[in-house]
Amino acid sequence: MDNAPQKSSSFFFVALNFIRKNPSIILSLALMVFMPLALYFNTYILLNTYEKNAGIEFMRKAAMVENTLDAMIDGDLLNNPESLEKKINEIKEREDEIADLEILMPSDEKRETYDVIASFAPDQVGQKVSEDFYKTVAWSQPEGTSHFEDIGGARVLKIEKVFHDDLNSRIGLLSLSFSMQKTDNMISQAFLRSYLILFVTILLVLVFVINHARMFRYAVRLAKLKEVDEMKDNFISIASHELRSPLTAMRGYLEFLKEKEVAHVTEEGKHYIDNLETSVDRLDNLVSDLLEVSRLEQNRIPFEMKIIDLASAIKSGITEMEPKAQEKNLEITYSEAPLPRVRADQERLKQVFINLISNAIKYTPKGKIEITAKTKRKQIDIIISDTGLGISAENQKKLFQKFYRARTKETSAIPGTGLGLWITKELIEKMNGTIGLESIEGVGSRFTVSFPIAEGN
Ligand code: ADP
Repeated sequence: MDNAPQKSSSFFFVALNFIRKNPSIILSLALMVFMPLALYFNTYILLNTYEKNAGIEFMRKAAMVENTLDAMIDGDLLNNPESLEKKINEIKEREDEIADLEILMPSDEKRETYDVIASFAPDQVGQKVSEDFYKTVAWSQPEGTSHFEDIGGARVLKIEKVFHDDLNSRIGLLSLSFSMQKTDNMISQAFLRSYLILFVTILLVLVFVINHARMFRYAVRLAKLKEVDEMKDNFISIASHELRSPLTAMRGYLEFLKEKEVAHVTEEGKHYIDNLETSVDRLDNLVSDLLEVSRLEQNRIPFEMKIIDLASAIKSGITEMEPKAQEKNLEITYSEAPLPRVRADQERLKQVFINLISNAIKYTPKGKIEITAKTKRKQIDIIISDTGLGISAENQKKLFQKFYRARTKETSAIPGTGLGLWITKELIEKMNGTIGLESIEGVGSRFTVSFPIAEGN
């Protein structure tokens, strides 16, 4: 129980902290509140104006009808009950908005009561009414009176006006009742429709804003991921630097042991030293690759972009890898035709060819490695093909990803980090080139490196 307020206050502080760290969420929250509110007030104001205007329009129409009737009624008509009744019936048929009409005349000088001398309801004719309103208000207002009454749940506009004889003295009252039902129905339908549209619009706005908030969550997540990614890069960079020194020390001691082996180490010991050396080599490769990845990711590798001779970069790559190929009895062929010049970093380009030739040697048990070049308009393609294990279509899709290795029976015994092709692709792309691959499992692979030919060739 005691925890509850603490929990809610800590939630409040967490929320406050979150808002402080991500101030742009304030805009989303404000949108969430103000957009529906603005829509609501807009509709509210529009409807009120419409209602007022409809009322005014109705009153204007009623006043017009009243004036027409007032002009029609004169002493002659009042003295002739038959013509009066005929006239009233005509009006009843013509003006369907008039719910009731009565012509009243004071019964005596004091005007305590009024005689109904004509009415839409024939049974009212001849009746006496004694309403104070007629005596005190309606009789004394020459321009007439109007007010609303609620009759059976429907609004009725009542208008009373005095009418005069030829000598301009007041002789009676004209009382008209206009039914507001049609207008009111129209207004309430307009209200209903507008609120329905408002509701749907607010709903849409809310969906939009919620979606916006969701996008915001993704943005926050992305920022966090970037942070973690940076931390990972830093970790790899520090860890690989730190691993370098013990590895160098281990290599030094291994050299020392190898020199002394004749005198002190048994055959079995020599075997262990060889194993140790292989492991140190593998670890050294991994550390070098990791360092290279981290440098590439942090853009810490300088590229000395110059117009260079492509053929010499290929040749020096082949020269470096030749001994490894010979160890496996593999032939490397290269057609030494003159090649166009490209814009690249000589050393990085050599590294690209070393990586690709080294892979070709590693994954080719027998056969040959062929290096050819093809010029296509403004582009030069260098193709490194082998007669090796080949790569399945499934594996080809992911091969250029970091740490990805095609795992098959044949490759399981071949050591590697799965970083070489990623590094190669990054190096090529940073020098404005591209790399592509075609391969058939069990037949061989073809890696194509393409560069734009430098101008002036
Ligand atoms: P590593 O060779 O260290 O495993 P790479 O990134 O250089 O890493 O290569 C990724 C994977 O691609 C390798 O594990 C291998 O399965 C496959 N591969 C690369 N080059 C070839 C090739 N020439 N022939 C067959 N498979 C290859």
